[in-house]
Amino acid sequence: MISPSVYDSNIYVLNGTVLIDTGMTPEKVIPRISERTDISKIERIILTHCHYDHAGCVDELKKRCGASVVIYDGEEKMMLEDEGSAATVFGYTCPKTMPDVLCREGDLISAGKNEEGIEEFLEVIYTPGHTSGSMCLYSEKEKTVFSGDTVFSGGGLGRTDFKNSVPEKMTQSIGKLLTRDIEKIYPGHGQATLKNGKDSLQKSYRMSEMMNGKE
Ligand SMILES: [Zn+2]
Repeated sequence: MISPSVYDSNIYVLNGTVLIDTGMTPEKVIPRISERTDISKIERIILTHCHYDHAGCVDELKKRCGASVVIYDGEEKMMLEDEGSAATVFGYTCPKTMPDVLCREGDLISAGKNEEGIEEFLEVIYTPGHTSGSMCLYSEKEKTVFSGDTVFSGGGLGRTDFKNSVPEKMTQSIGKLLTRDIEKIYPGHGQATLKNGKDSLQKSYRMSEMMNGKE
């Protein structure tokens, strides 16, 4: 996990070849990723959602490694808008890179090959709420979820007051995560949860019920 600054999203480097989210300030992000892997070897960049603090370095990274960019189907439209991507909130303009792969609920995305040379996969769990095309990435084997801005450690959850938020779906989306076996949560901001992920998810669920209602 890399947390370049308070504004940049967390960035996860998997098996040296796959990134989850990119942060937004290349001058901070590029050196930090380079400490972990050779950027030219990155094959895939998975974006949990369209927001600029998660996707802002995609142009710079794409230039350096040509990786294929993956985002949830439909979410790419918002990523390529100044306002939809919230780039304007941070004083930037939206990325220009058109994603290469649009994924859907249940898709398996390669997370690269582990040290034993075995290819690992992440399952796409569609979790609208924070944005309409937010997704979480789940590994059953590792009992791990990469949760983007849907849930944070300690029972937090993402804001649902953006242009393309769907507050009425948030509780249901967190409920979907609760049906999975989850120990570890790697969120888009803040610290990771390394055990008892379910407890944290239950707190997030109750918080969402209070804030966003139950569908
Ligand atoms: Zn966000």
